[in-house]
Amino acid sequence: MPLTITAAVLNTAPGKLELEELVLDDPGPDEVLIDVHYSGLCRSDLHEIEGAWPATCPTLLGHEASGVVRRVGDRVRTLRPGDHVVTCLSIYCGECRFCLSGRMTLCPRRGSLGSRTQPVLVNARGQSVHPTARLGAFAEAMVVHEHSAVRIPDNMPLAAASVLGCAVVTGLSSVFRSARVRPGSTVAVLGCGGIGIAAIQGARLAGAREIIAIDAVEARLIDAVKFGATATVHAGQVDTVAAVRELTEGGVDYSFEAVGLAATVEQAFAMLGPGGTATVVGLVPDSQPISIRASELFLLEKRLQGALMGSNQFPTDIPGYVRYYEQGRLNLDDMLSTTVSLDRINEGFELMKSGGGTRVVASIRSES
Ligand SMILES: [Zn+2]
Ligand SMILES: [Zn+2]
Repeated sequence: MPLTITAAVLNTAPGKLELEELVLDDPGPDEVLIDVHYSGLCRSDLHEIEGAWPATCPTLLGHEASGVVRRVGDRVRTLRPGDHVVTCLSIYCGECRFCLSGRMTLCPRRGSLGSRTQPVLVNARGQSVHPTARLGAFAEAMVVHEHSAVRIPDNMPLAAASVLGCAVVTGLSSVFRSARVRPGSTVAVLGCGGIGIAAIQGARLAGAREIIAIDAVEARLIDAVKFGATATVHAGQVDTVAAVRELTEGGVDYSFEAVGLAATVEQAFAMLGPGGTATVVGLVPDSQPISIRASELFLLEKRLQGALMGSNQFPTDIPGYVRYYEQGRLNLDDMLSTTVSLDRINEGFELMKSGGGTRVVASIRSES
């Protein structure tokens, strides 16, 4: 039986999210129905709300959810009703050469995996509502492909778990998988939002000697130290490249760009020492070409690389990150700066725009 659910829908872009009732279809053979408890607000949602990225309206945004499985389709093998889960954007087929070699974020079949014969969501006007990235987490419940969710332990707090599926998996996996930060090395992180803070925590877990946090917002730099940064650089006040070079006697071994601007990608490359690797985690608009000194690729063996969602293998990465949390080595609780109810979700996005806090999370169902 299809469910009637309350959801925060983007009907026009740029625009605001509007609370309305939608009909959610039954899960197909490879799908699961999840009762959503918490849903993180991500900057990529804001880009669609503000019209910076094209949105397929009406659309249901939200991709960083935690919740409990209510029903599963006939072919689902990895999840059962009652399982606590986290959702992730990195849907994968598990059969192609990319998936089989561990590069699941590059799965070429992900575009067709979640496709179905009838719409998963329909509004009161009879229109199909597009769930972003086949997720759509700003709602009381969601129907997603089995390979968009991973089980977490029942005793993992669902509020803290909600940041695992996007910010944390992207930040930590970019350190562990994309860059493979070595113990004793030096690291700079440009941009101290949710992903940057997760990258700082990843660098700490990887045993980096120096972790330099760079941001233009003072409050974020203060936060960054709490999460493991050993030095800070205020981007608005000093030449960040010169400051990082001075702090590290010639440049860092690894830099992470978590802003999504051409200028910060260029800085991330420029602040590397010889043999260093810059990893671009932020999405830079195609309208912004970058300019680097290409001779340094050769003469200094510098590397510039991208990491899509941290090149994650989320079905194994996320349970591993839960263990770090359980051991007190990964601080998720302080990453949750504010919790808002679904009917106040627009205020949550306003708060994000003001630069305050690491992660705003929508609380959709209280934990039982
Ligand atoms: Zn996200
Ligand atoms: Zn695949």
